[in-house]
Amino acid sequence: MATIDIPLIDIHTHIGHLPGVIGDYYSAEDLRYVAENEGARYALASSASTTSIGEAYGLAEAIDMVERHGERLGGMFWLNPRDPEWPKHAALAKEHGLHGIKIHPVLDNYAVNRSALDAVFACAMQYQWPILTHTGLDGTPTSAACYKELIAAYPDVVLILAHLRVEGIPLAKRYDQVYLDTTYVDPMMVEIGVDAVGPDKLLFGSDACEGFDVGHASGRARPPRSYAGLIKGIRERGVTEEALERIVYLNAKRVFGLDK
Ligand SMILES: [Zn+2]
Repeated sequence: MATIDIPLIDIHTHIGHLPGVIGDYYSAEDLRYVAENEGARYALASSASTTSIGEAYGLAEAIDMVERHGERLGGMFWLNPRDPEWPKHAALAKEHGLHGIKIHPVLDNYAVNRSALDAVFACAMQYQWPILTHTGLDGTPTSAACYKELIAAYPDVVLILAHLRVEGIPLAKRYDQVYLDTTYVDPMMVEIGVDAVGPDKLLFGSDACEGFDVGHASGRARPPRSYAGLIKGIRERGVTEEALERIVYLNAKRVFGLDK
């Protein structure tokens, strides 16, 4: 396994029980293995068990991860706005030093609009948390453009629109607090994103451990991926080293206030 030759913070990773296949589970140790084996400095992870089991369960896994591996793995609170206990869980997540909110309107099955997410954005503002959201395909009820009114209403809430959709580009261009992430994004689209919004508005994410070498067989076979491979792909599109360093490291430090 090649280790990477550049400092990297992966802002979008997961532990826990993934939906789709029973037994598709990644522990905090698996994610730590990925980070250490491939040379990533730090990873921000939420537990997918929130969507497959429940929010309290997922949060407990994230807190446990941070308590045991906090120097290498930071926690994100995967919040399901339907869970009546989410404000209580959010307070607990804040108390344990989690770094932000992760939402997934596709897997948790709700349309994105102000009535669904006003309270979540207000919570993010109160706790000074960035929100990382999965964005659905452009033109769907969970797409990047659906966040427009929330973005305008909450200028102080950093919003990271995952997966660099086309609909996210005008929002990241127009609003200082809006960023795009590179999770599962084709290298050509990263090149287009750099040209469209500039390297300061892109954050590196991967959805690790999916497809990464975790040192043992995983519960669901996926096409193999690695940090070295993802970085090589971006370099091959002509993205400069200066831009790359911002995308994979410096922006994450700034946006999340990390000292890694
Ligand atoms: Zn994800």
